[in-house]
Amino acid sequence: MTISEKVAYLKGLAEGLELDVEKSKEGKLISVMIGILEELAMTVEDLEENALDLGEEIDVLSDDLADVEAVIFDDEDMDEDFEDECFEVTCPNCEEPLTIDDEALAEGMIQCPNCEQNFSLDLSSDICTEDE
Ligand SMILES: [Zn+2]
Repeated sequence: MTISEKVAYLKGLAEGLELDVEKSKEGKLISVMIGILEELAMTVEDLEENALDLGEEIDVLSDDLADVEAVIFDDEDMDEDFEDECFEVTCPNCEEPLTIDDEALAEGMIQCPNCEQNFSLDLSSDICTEDE
């Protein structure tokens, strides 16, 4: 039973009492209360409908966003190790782990802080490139 149906049932019960809604204070009170309940029921049901519509729209947006993400990022980069995979390499000379920052990425060169050897970044293999 929806709220509206429950209120309609309540209204029917009240009408069965055959209260005088003009002269009886109790009758008037019950009549006004039921009127308010009817309004509340309609408002709540409208809100519920809106919430459902919004939920569906969010689902659509979420799917669209996933499509956009799939275009921007390669599928293989979508896992949780995204940062580690893309911006950490091992020094080919001393095997010190190196973090590649944006600056090094732009230059295409990195200097190992451990053995101080310069080497160029191989952008075609493990390191992901950012399209700009
Ligand atoms: Zn090194």
